[in-house]
Order: sequence, then structure tokens, then C-alpha cells
Amino acid sequence: MNIQMCDLKGQYLKIKDEIDAAIQEVIVSTAFIKGKEVSLFQDELASYLGVKHVIGCANGTDALQVALMALDLKPGDEVITPDFTFIATVEVVALLGLTPILVDVDPSTFTIDIKRLEEAITPKTKAIIPVHLFGQCANMDEVMRVAQKHNLYVIEDTAQALGADYYHSDGRVAKAGTIGTIGTTSFFPSKNLGCYGDGGALFTNDDALAAEIRSIANHGMKVRYHHDRIGVNSRLDTIQAAILRVKLKYLDSFNKARIEAANAYYAMLKPCSKVITPARAKWSNHIFHQYTLKLTGVDRDKLQKELAAKGIPTMVYYPIPLHMQKAFDPYREFNLGRSFQVSDTLSNSVISLPMHTELTDDVIKYIVDNLMVALKE
Ligand SMILES: *Cc1c(COP(=O)(O)O)cnc(C)c1O
Repeated sequence: MNIQMCDLKGQYLKIKDEIDAAIQEVIVSTAFIKGKEVSLFQDELASYLGVKHVIGCANGTDALQVALMALDLKPGDEVITPDFTFIATVEVVALLGLTPILVDVDPSTFTIDIKRLEEAITPKTKAIIPVHLFGQCANMDEVMRVAQKHNLYVIEDTAQALGADYYHSDGRVAKAGTIGTIGTTSFFPSKNLGCYGDGGALFTNDDALAAEIRSIANHGMKVRYHHDRIGVNSRLDTIQAAILRVKLKYLDSFNKARIEAANAYYAMLKPCSKVITPARAKWSNHIFHQYTLKLTGVDRDKLQKELAAKGIPTMVYYPIPLHMQKAFDPYREFNLGRSFQVSDTLSNSVISLPMHTELTDDVIKYIVDNLMVALKE
């Protein structure tokens, strides 16, 4: 068995004809930059998400950066992010001279802890970046309530949850990334909607903000060679947009395959006393960008080695919480006195199993059987 954390090849082979034709068409057109597929994809993703504007950009990190730039924050303004996420979420805050304020996460969903969120707000706080981690939404009703109370912007980092549904407490359903001021995502190849290189996008329902975002991502210009502000060059390539147009049609079925794999894992792991399977929040479905277990009383390094010897890859997302990263030393003073007990514990106890659209019950059984043997269960 050739087991991978993420099987991009197997997925490609199933849609090869459509993908190859889409790429070929762009090459023949030679419209590599701002070709028609870019605006077609933006429109199609906007209608899938039920949001007014989708603006493509070069990657998910740029999407976060451009979003923050569009909000016209001033150096020293504070931006709140969860402590347990990929570095990109926080990196851009620091890069723009803003102050990253880290908040611990909820022990069951691993998303920003609402109780601690409000404690972290100061007169300098301007924005919150909730992260929809591993395929499941943060508690957006609560994030929005706190944001409205304190007049804060909300940027939803949707890099790991594109296509997830959020269930508002009043019964409305919204796609992840369409609830806050701006949503951002990444089309990194292994993401739920991945292209064949780098790509990203921003979403918003605000017309003026959309115009600002388009301008920032295009050297700060609205009229060609008239630069109103300092911007960046961040574009979604036409070839990537053409690939994404094909893959968007399959996004729901890809996410369904991930959910089915997670259900199979859950059924087989149920008797195992040393692992805690992913919790499902009542406010969101879970589209399993990652399938992440919490281990109790297990030597994780040893377990990873034993599984690797059986050809089973595993990963630790994330082994070091952000407040412990060397790059954040300059921001330590702003984060003193806050508890990061949950993210510290998670960093030491989580393990992610292979999760992708091509997993079969046989492969899942092989993984779980070997996991049980390694755990002596
Ligand atoms: C992948 C990811 C990003 C960054 O996306 P890139 O396209 O790699 O720049 C940002 N935030 C989170 C939570 C991610 O998982």
C-alpha cells in the first residue's frame, strides 16, 4: 500500500481529461495573466459561496495581507488571532507593523476560545482573525457579537475550510468565509480546493472594500498607471484559475469524500481509549481538511515511528504554538499574562492521520489496525 497524507495524484487521474484540456486552452490563448478564466472562476466561486465579490490573489498568505491592508490599520493597532494555527495568519499582522495578540483555543474544536477572546480586547484592538481550523468553522456568532460590541473588523481565515457550512443560531446557513468583513482562502495544492501551484482569494459583500482589495492587489491602482496607494502584485494565474474552475465543480463531492473517510475513521477508532477523535461543533459541519486526533498517555514520537515503519505517514499540526515561536519574541510583552494552556497541551498531544479524497475503507482499516497495535489496544 502506498499511503500518503494527501493523494493529489489519485485525484488528478480521475479528472485528468478535463484538467488537461483546461490547461491546454490557456496555453493556446497565451492569456497567462488576467485571462478570462480568472474572472469566470471568481464569479463561479462567488455564486458557490453566496458572496458578492471574490477577488483572486497569489496565495492565502497574500490574501490575509491584502485584507489587512484594505482595512487601513495603523502601526501599533492590535489584531487578535488564535495561538494554534499556521504561522501565515499572524505573520502578516507583524509584517504590516501591527501587533499580534494571541488567544488560546477551545480544547474540543481547536478554534479561538470565545471566553478568552473578549479578555484580550484593549482600546488598541482593531480586528479579529478567526481561523476555521482543520475544516471546521470557529464560533462565528460569538466572534461577530464580540466584534460588533467593540467595533472590530473580522477577517475569516478560511484556508482550511472552503465549502464548510456555518449554522447561525437563528437558523440561517452561510458558507465559511462569508460572515465577517472579509474572508480569505488559499488554493495551496493540499487544501480542500487546491490548484496546481500557489493561489488564493478574498471574499466580501462590501462593494467599496472589494474595489480597495482589487486595487491593492494590483499595485494600488484603479486606473492604469495611476497609483493611489502603495499596493502589491498578487494575482491568481490564469492556468490556476482554469484548474480551479474544473475542481470547483467537484468541491462538494471532494468534501463529501473527506467526511465519509472521517466517518470510517470514527467508527473504527471508537473502541480505542487512548485517542480522542475530532469533536464536531454544533455551529458548523466539518469538512476535514485534516483528521486530527488527541492522544492521551501516548509517546507520540514512538507512535509516529512505528506507523512510518508500516508505511503510514502522520503529521503534527502544529508542534509549536505561536506564542512559543522565536519569531514572536518581539511580541511576547503584549502576550504576557495570558494563558495558552490548551494550545500548549494540543501541540504536545495532537496527531493527524492521512486525509484526502481518495481514501478507501481498506486503507483506513489498515491505518487504524496498525494504530491499535502500536497503542496496544
Ligand atoms: C495554508 C494556510 C494559509 C496560507 O496559505 P498559502 O496559500 O500557503 O499562503 C493561511 N492560513 C491557514 C490557516 C492555512 O492553513
